[in-house]
Amino acid sequence: MPMEPVAPMSLEEARAAEDADSRQLLSAATVEEALAVLVEIARRLTRAHQATVVLSPAPGKTRGASVTSLSHAYEVWGGYTVPSSDEPGRTSRERRASRAEPRGRLHGSLPGDAGVLYLFDREVGDFSREDELALHRLARLAGLALESARLLREEQHARAEAESAEQRAAFLADASRVLASSSLDPKATLDTLARLCVPILADWCFVDVMDEAGTVQRTSVAHADPGLDALAQRVRCFPAGPEGSSHPTSRVVRHAESLLVDDVDEAWLRRVAVSEAHYETMRAVGFHEILSVPLLARGRSLGALTFLAVRPSRHYNQADLETAQDLARRAALLVDNARLYREARRSVRLRDEFLAVASHELKTPLTPLQLRLQWLRRQTRKDRPYLPTPMVISQLDVVQRQVDKLSGLVHGLLDVSRLSSGRLVLHREDVDLEAVAREVKDQLAVPASQAGSPVSVSVRGDVHGHWDRARLEQVLTNLLANAVKYGAGHPVHIALRGEPERVVLRVEDTGIGIASEYQSHIFERFGRAVSERHYGGLGLGLYITRQIVEAHGGDIQVRSEPELGSRFEVTLPRHEAAANA
Ligand code: ADP
Repeated sequence: MPMEPVAPMSLEEARAAEDADSRQLLSAATVEEALAVLVEIARRLTRAHQATVVLSPAPGKTRGASVTSLSHAYEVWGGYTVPSSDEPGRTSRERRASRAEPRGRLHGSLPGDAGVLYLFDREVGDFSREDELALHRLARLAGLALESARLLREEQHARAEAESAEQRAAFLADASRVLASSSLDPKATLDTLARLCVPILADWCFVDVMDEAGTVQRTSVAHADPGLDALAQRVRCFPAGPEGSSHPTSRVVRHAESLLVDDVDEAWLRRVAVSEAHYETMRAVGFHEILSVPLLARGRSLGALTFLAVRPSRHYNQADLETAQDLARRAALLVDNARLYREARRSVRLRDEFLAVASHELKTPLTPLQLRLQWLRRQTRKDRPYLPTPMVISQLDVVQRQVDKLSGLVHGLLDVSRLSSGRLVLHREDVDLEAVAREVKDQLAVPASQAGSPVSVSVRGDVHGHWDRARLEQVLTNLLANAVKYGAGHPVHIALRGEPERVVLRVEDTGIGIASEYQSHIFERFGRAVSERHYGGLGLGLYITRQIVEAHGGDIQVRSEPELGSRFEVTLPRHEAAANA
């Protein structure tokens, strides 16, 4: 017997209906509670065996729900039975067979299409007109109760949001204070940061940091449980991987993209694990959500700050993401400052070292020059008008060599200042790189044989190109002079190889080599990997070399191991167009 949908009732009307049932219904704190009260009252008032309310899903409010109240008899027998048939000794089949015919059903819509209230099977007789009216009243009341419960829930939700926003702001303020007072050592700053976040923001917190060469290290790992130190050591072994790696924090570190996964499962772990050990470690940590944000400073990513949720009650949302990003920005600023400070100190140290080496280098040719000039002056006194020519020539040779050395040094310095201000102009012409290599080999024949380093040249393919000849002579001279100087009396090899669009030049020695931590610095201005006490040199040759090679659109790489030797490889596009492509 369907009912017409009922019109909503005002709050005043509802208050006027002062019975205990309506008060109970209206005082329900949640939608679920209101529904449970509703079906109970409906069943009791109408003496129905079953009352059910089905709530339709309303966007943004609550999910659809269904709540049922059953009479005792219905629950016991799994269906409505007449009480007198409940005799001992009867089989369930017989019991089922004794079920009475259904005695009707009744349903009414809740206001605003919120749902439908159904009544099934009255205990005695059919549903009456009174039942219908009762259902009618109840449905209107229920509409109000649901509305007020929903409003209450929204209010509670808004209050909880406001409270957690306040907590976040307080945490950020605290964190900034602690971070700002931490030392200039970035590692200590990041350790402090990770510790601060546990357990307020995460059950595990760790920091991945990328160095200038692009290598990532997991510098700090913090967790809430002191019994997990051994696991923390394992977690430390899996920093973000290289470009293109499936590792969850790789894209965060390398592309500054934040990551929030709120349903970490077996399939996800399998997808992101870089190895079986990584997978096992992630499983052992047992997190169900992960939030990872980049450490951003001056538009560059320095690493990632990652939070894990292990406790089932911990969940991350958009607000947590923003808090984490804010925190990571503040930390990154400190790390960046510490780096800048370290670099500034390094530059000052390099400059001081350079001044010491430069004055020494510039003075070295001056001493023999002065000695020869004094000797010549002594020999040309008035009473000795004639000097044997061979003697004069040999003295002048020495003078010339020292002047050449001095002018080479001064040229180098001038070149550096010109290159630093970006004023390198190339005079391109057709060049045979083999001819240049053999010429440079001849020019350095004396120092090479003095050092006991025979130089060999090998050529494969066509090694012609459109380059600045004088500048490439400089490149080869620098590389060969270094190989002889640091080659420690071992043979040196120059290899030229022609490829369709480019020519590759290698200079190899088996000398003292270069430790890996210095390899990225030797191409910088004044960058040196040896002590000034053992080797002279301004640390400018490779800087100039790189500038020249790059001006040609090429590049220069070094591969070296201490005590085993070094291999410098220069790639030169044959033509300007190829260099610009
Ligand atoms: P320098 O005048 O000091 O040699 P460079 O710029 O030519 O300046 O080289 C920079 C540094 O690189 C050197 O100080 C040295 O430590 C290292 N280096 C360059 N070439 C070699 C090599 N063939 N073997 C070992 N170390 C080298």
